[in-house]
Amino acid sequence: MKDDASISGRNSLDWDAIAAELDGVELIREPVLVKKRSRDFFWYSPILNRTLKTCFGDLVARPATPDQMARCLAVAHAHDAPVVLRGGGTGNYGQSVPLDGGLIIDTTAMNRVLEIGDGWVRAEAGALMADINAALAESGQELAMFPSTQDIATIGGFVAGGSGGIGSVAHGMLRDKGNLIGLTALSVEAEPQAHRFEGSDALHIHHAWGLNGAITEVTVRCVPRQDWIGCIASFDDYTSAYAAGYDLACDKEMGCKLVSTVDARIAGYFPRLMGHVRQGADLLVAMVPRAGLEGLRAVITAHGGTLDVALDEGARQAAGLPHVFEFSYNHTTLQVLKSDRSATYQQIGVPDAGDIGAIARLNADLGDDVWQHHEFARRGGAVVSFDLPIVWYESDEQLGRVNAIYERHGFTVHDAHAFHVEGGGLKNVDYRHLAWKKRMDPKGLMNSGKSKAWPQVRDLPADQIERMTQEE
Ligand SMILES: Cc1cc2nc3c(=O)[nH]c(=O)nc-3n(C[C@H](O)[C@H](O)[C@H](O)COP(=O)(O)OP(=O)(O)OC[C@H]3O[C@@H](n4cnc5c(N)ncnc54)[C@H](O)[C@@H]3O)c2cc1C
Repeated sequence: MKDDASISGRNSLDWDAIAAELDGVELIREPVLVKKRSRDFFWYSPILNRTLKTCFGDLVARPATPDQMARCLAVAHAHDAPVVLRGGGTGNYGQSVPLDGGLIIDTTAMNRVLEIGDGWVRAEAGALMADINAALAESGQELAMFPSTQDIATIGGFVAGGSGGIGSVAHGMLRDKGNLIGLTALSVEAEPQAHRFEGSDALHIHHAWGLNGAITEVTVRCVPRQDWIGCIASFDDYTSAYAAGYDLACDKEMGCKLVSTVDARIAGYFPRLMGHVRQGADLLVAMVPRAGLEGLRAVITAHGGTLDVALDEGARQAAGLPHVFEFSYNHTTLQVLKSDRSATYQQIGVPDAGDIGAIARLNADLGDDVWQHHEFARRGGAVVSFDLPIVWYESDEQLGRVNAIYERHGFTVHDAHAFHVEGGGLKNVDYRHLAWKKRMDPKGLMNSGKSKAWPQVRDLPADQIERMTQEE
């Protein structure tokens, strides 16, 4: 396994020969463009930036069909070339950064919406989620959830690298039953095979960061489209905003698809909201169906807040404002980074979303270096929240001290500054993912270096790796 110090990127395969064998597939060889497609949003983290900024691929292929994708994988297999799948490249942990150089397979030309049914949509992996949502409008539906990056992120990248987003407070995380309906993925072999994963079997591939199969198409849940009102409310203190957020998240009938709370100091970095929301206030950001608007207003008032913005889509466009979800999830971090690159963030699991006192006690301890921002969601049916705070980074040691404060309060740190799949996102080894890696990618070419545990199991039979799941 490569350690951090030895990560370097490009390797010395015969790329002219590889390019010749990929004749007919769109290729990108211009070094500046290859470098561009070797990056994602890892630069949010000073630690990942330090580690990954010199990792580049050697060649980008942009297949337009599953057959072309299969050819790319077969050629990579024949040359023992490392392979990294890439959608929109909006991941935050260097997920689509080629640690060992190699072939980058950009899926964005495989972007067709294939079929729309009642409650589901089937699309090619490279389809942008905003385009899928637009295609669904005609049938009166929308994606059950999508990340705030929907304009540039692909559905394949979301399934392989994401976890939830706008819609998760109503419908749960992507991994919750019924949200990810099925997917097809290709193996990396001399003759790549298409494997179909239905229902919970799709979790074998979900959130594996493209380590264990190249997804060609996915089927995901959609829900009846609503007339959404984008809302922003202001509060005098963060705890009240959070308490209102918790009540809104619990009110299933009201049906919010987004509930976020943002510390006033972060909101100070939202210039586009100037004149629309009370300055210096802590904010609650929500999307509510029109029928729930009065209920939402009542909850905000009961917690001492004021509803400053309540706009449907037409009014939002007329006012020239961004979607309210651009002040949620990791867009919040982006708004701060636009002004000051010394900011970074962390990902924190809240042990009991309804324990408002715990949020207040933590807030007092975090001091001036850490500004809270919570997202509410459902997981397994229960309301959960997680904190994506702004951290004013000084050193790795200081970040360690911030993590220790959270942990002392019983909160879980899902480290946003780790590039291994077992680092932040999963925290534990997912042996089921690795068993499927053994089946789908026996040479271990896919997103090499991103699994810490793979080198320890790569020589074991897949079934034995899978049994390690139960033994854990
Ligand atoms: C501002 C901002 C906001 C964000 N908000 C959210 C959010 O709300 N919710 C959320 O979950 N995430 C969020 N993210 C993270 C990211 O945007 C999403 O996970 C997004 O869905 C990734 O899609 P992508 O097409 O950009 O994938 P990429 O970044 O290109 O890839 C992600 C991972 O999937 C793999 N991959 C891509 N395509 C395939 C394929 N066809 N087959 C196999 N593996 C593949 C890649 O190798 C990589 O490991 C955010 C990121 C930013 C920068």
